[in-house]
Amino acid sequence: MPDAARDLLSTAEVCRVLGITPREVYRLAAEGYLEIKRVHRCKHGNIPFFSGRQVESVRCELPRILRRWEGEEGAEKGAAAAWKRLKDWRSYHRTKLRKERFLQALDDLPEKSGFLLRGAYYLYHLNHYAKAGEAYLYDLKEKVLALMATHFTPEDGLQIYFVPGPGRVRLCPACRRRARSQRKTYVEYIRLTGGCPCCQRDEGYYSLYEFQIESGEHRFCFHSPAQLGRKWFKGKEIPQKEGREREGGYPFGRPIFPGEAAAVNLAEVIEELEKFLNLFAE
Ligand SMILES: [Zn+2]
Repeated sequence: MPDAARDLLSTAEVCRVLGITPREVYRLAAEGYLEIKRVHRCKHGNIPFFSGRQVESVRCELPRILRRWEGEEGAEKGAAAAWKRLKDWRSYHRTKLRKERFLQALDDLPEKSGFLLRGAYYLYHLNHYAKAGEAYLYDLKEKVLALMATHFTPEDGLQIYFVPGPGRVRLCPACRRRARSQRKTYVEYIRLTGGCPCCQRDEGYYSLYEFQIESGEHRFCFHSPAQLGRKWFKGKEIPQKEGREREGGYPFGRPIFPGEAAAVNLAEVIEELEKFLNLFAE
């Protein structure tokens, strides 16, 4: 890589170098410590890149900045903030322990199930980061689900269901005009009238594929839009499921708490999922 390009770090790389969360990276940017030098456009959003030199110079100042942030929070909430910090710290350490135990327990599974569960664990965290604003991560999620769909089976612990959803109506120009003249949003207008025969209808547009990954008390659930997933199955029969489950991770027999999810660094998540994608590379 040329030197100029090397000097640019993605949000995830900044998280790793500084040991902070994406939210804290953007706070540093908002406060003028870091500048977004370039933006890389992905299908699902943009990846900001920061100057490596700036990240280096922030590194020395970071302890002071973090203390100031804590101080500002502390001034607002006093004892409550101190208590929250203690709880965050304990939640962080508990998470690290649970994560180690979870990943260790995978060694007892058949090799492929172990790969699948490990991938699901990191995909859950990726999802969490994507929902918290890192939308470009959905590109990676798509690749991981595609690999799961094509390389794993119910014997490995993966069940895939088709969840039928409503169609999408796109109003024709005449209907759009009528909606505007009635001072209704298009969504309201569709709900009230269902559109006219000239409007465009995409049957089952909001259908989904549901991925359920399960092994013992560990369970994960992910969704992919059907129009995206269809090409992964190449005519394979996928059983239909009524109703749908919440997306999420239940690696300890219950949903992961938000504090827990934050304790797994974004850079680690991306690295692990890229390793997962390479499992079946020739
Ligand atoms: Zn119409």
